[in-house]
Amino acid sequence: MKEKILVTRSSMPPYEEYIQAIKPLWDTHWLTNMGQYHRELEQRLKEYLKVPELSLMVNGHLALELAIQAMGFPENAEVITTPFTFISTTHAIVRNRLKPVFCDVKFSDGTIDESKIEALITENTVAIVPVHVYGNICNIEKIQELADAYGLKVIYDAAHAFGVTYRGEGIGAFGDASIFSFHATKVFNTVEGGGVTFKDRKLYDKLYNLKNFGIRGEELVTEVGANAKMNELAAIMGLCNLNYIDEVFMERKKRYEAYVERIQQIEGIRRFEESSETEKNYAYFPILVTESCQFDRDTLYEKLRNEGIYARKYFYPLTSDQACFKNKYRYMQLDNARQLSREVLVLPLYADLPFEVIDKVCDILAKG
Ligand SMILES: *Cc1c(COP(=O)(O)O)cnc(C)c1O
Repeated sequence: MKEKILVTRSSMPPYEEYIQAIKPLWDTHWLTNMGQYHRELEQRLKEYLKVPELSLMVNGHLALELAIQAMGFPENAEVITTPFTFISTTHAIVRNRLKPVFCDVKFSDGTIDESKIEALITENTVAIVPVHVYGNICNIEKIQELADAYGLKVIYDAAHAFGVTYRGEGIGAFGDASIFSFHATKVFNTVEGGGVTFKDRKLYDKLYNLKNFGIRGEELVTEVGANAKMNELAAIMGLCNLNYIDEVFMERKKRYEAYVERIQQIEGIRRFEESSETEKNYAYFPILVTESCQFDRDTLYEKLRNEGIYARKYFYPLTSDQACFKNKYRYMQLDNARQLSREVLVLPLYADLPFEVIDKVCDILAKG
């Protein structure tokens, strides 16, 4: 049987390197609870991501859930967000007993349409949760302007944007907080893991409480908290993977560019617009199968699948259309989001993806 090609493949450090790196744990027996490696990874990621503050979490979802919780919003308040994202974004809002209000996205890059946010703001609005979808960066300036004018918090879902910079600044340095995912399927992984980045040091203590049961001393619990700590084996995986991250980006870039060259020549396949002010991370290779293509998206998805190539319809359906949310929350017309969700297909992309696969994928897209 042919080997299946999935949309991504986890980057891993050399086996020996990881084994050597975890060896000291058999002396210390210190496996979690903000140990040495947890602290070391926090430090190294702060530098790598060019952010003032960072709190490591057990995964990206809890990073977002706790970052929102840390803001202390009143129950049932409204949060403006987009439905063109992974379900986690909407879950994190709803699980905080807040109401998502779905804003449309831009046709050009899939990020929240900043020109449509203001019309959705009411006296119950407390925050905006935009998504840097596929690493495409939201209109940070305009969103901040609106937040300042109406006294709203901005929490970015930057799960796709590890390593992305905007005008030389770390993408996690904008808004009140940003969250990253270090899940096995993301560009940088700690197996499972995540982090919240922010500027205000007070938020570090708040998040510390939320990720560690609110425990502040042997006999002192000051706050109701969850458990969302990253363990030492995961942190060591992160430290090892971080040694190779620049190489990973380089290898991804080569493959990304190989796709671009072929895709440009295929009638009816569009790509998202790219900003010249950002340094990309080549995390995903989404294409849009437009009406002028000889095949529709679902046909191409099937054709690839028949050849053992598992492209993914990220993000279809919209989160607002999922069974658990349908018709429950307020939204405006989501025409762009709906169309993108019908047209999008994310092609396989990872650091050691064979170039032959790229050729084969593009042959199928071009000829069926
Ligand atoms: C992966 C992802 C998350 C959740 O991260 P986990 O680490 O898997 O919990 C949240 N939002 C988006 C957009 C994601 O892609």
